[in-house]
Amino acid sequence: MGKISKPLLFWYYNSARDLPWRVVKDLHPNPYFVWVSEVMLQQTGVKTVIPYFQRFIQAFPTVDVLAKANQDQVLSLWQGLGYYSRARNLHAGAKQIVAMGEFPQTAIELLKIKGIGPYTSAAIGSISFGETIPVVDGNVKRVFSRLFCLEEKGQALHDRAFELSLAEIESSPGDYNSALMDLGATVCSPRNPQCEICPLKLNCCAFKAGCVLDYPKKIEKKPMPTKYGIVAWVEKDGELLIRKREQGILKGLYELPWDEVEKTDYDKIDSDFVKHTFTHFHLYLKIVRTKKIQEGQFILFESLKDYPFSTLMKKILK
Ligand code: SF4
Repeated sequence: MGKISKPLLFWYYNSARDLPWRVVKDLHPNPYFVWVSEVMLQQTGVKTVIPYFQRFIQAFPTVDVLAKANQDQVLSLWQGLGYYSRARNLHAGAKQIVAMGEFPQTAIELLKIKGIGPYTSAAIGSISFGETIPVVDGNVKRVFSRLFCLEEKGQALHDRAFELSLAEIESSPGDYNSALMDLGATVCSPRNPQCEICPLKLNCCAFKAGCVLDYPKKIEKKPMPTKYGIVAWVEKDGELLIRKREQGILKGLYELPWDEVEKTDYDKIDSDFVKHTFTHFHLYLKIVRTKKIQEGQFILFESLKDYPFSTLMKKILK
C-alpha cells in the first residue's frame, strides 16, 4: 500500500480544478464553504453548482447568517437545484452549529449535525481539519474498482474502497481526497477514461489487464415507477392560487394545488401535461383550469417570482 498517494498529489498540485470553495496544499478551507459545496454537489454537477454556491455564499457568508435566515430565503436560493431536503437540513444544521458555539472539527462530531452523513463529515473533517479519513463518492468507487480490479458492487464496493483508500493515505488527507474525486471526475470517467494521461496508470490493475470498462461491476437497476396527478389552475382577478407544501420531498416550497390520482382517472382528462423525473419515480401531471377554490393563497402573477417553487412547478407555471 501507499503506492498512489505521491503520484496522485503530484498530479493534483498541477491539475486541481479551480473551484470557489477550494484551496490546495494543506491550506485548509473554510469548513462552512466545504459543507455548503459538498451538500450542493450531492446529485448535482460541478458546473451547475458553482453559480448557486456563489449566490448562496453572497447571501449567507457565514454559518451564523444562514442560521438567522428564514426558510423561504434559503429555499429561494436553492430553486432549480432540486432535492430540497438538502437545503432544509443545511438550514437546520446551521442553527444546530450556532447553538453548539463552534463548528465541529472531527467526522464523528460532524455526524451529529442534521443532514451531515458519513460522506460529508469525512469531506469536511479531512479537507478543512486535516483528519485522516477517506471520502468515498461514486467517482472514488470507480477509481478504486479499476485500480484494484474489484468485483464488489454497491455497499460492498463502498466499504472496500474506503478500506483501500484509508491504507493509501500518506499525507495531506484533504488534498488526497480532493485529488481522488477530481481524478474520477476528469480522467477516470465512466465511459471514456483517459488512461494515457492518468498519474496512476502504472498501478492500475484494469489498465494493465486492458479491461478498464469492465469496472466497476454493474448493478441491475429496477425500472422506476410512474405516478400521476392533477394540478388545479385557479385564477381570480389576475391572481393565481398557490399553497405551501407541508410534507414530502418538496416540503417548504410553494406549488399549485395538486393531488396524486390513479392512472385511469388521469387518462380521462384531456389537457396539457408536464413530466418530471425524481430520484425514484417519474411523475406526470395534467393541468386543469377550475374555479373550485382549495386551501392556499391568491398571488399576483408578477409576485410569483418572490416565492420558491420547485423545477416541477416552474415547468407548470411556464
Ligand atoms: Fe482510471 Fe485508467 Fe487511471 Fe486506471 S489508468 S485509474 S482506469 S484512468
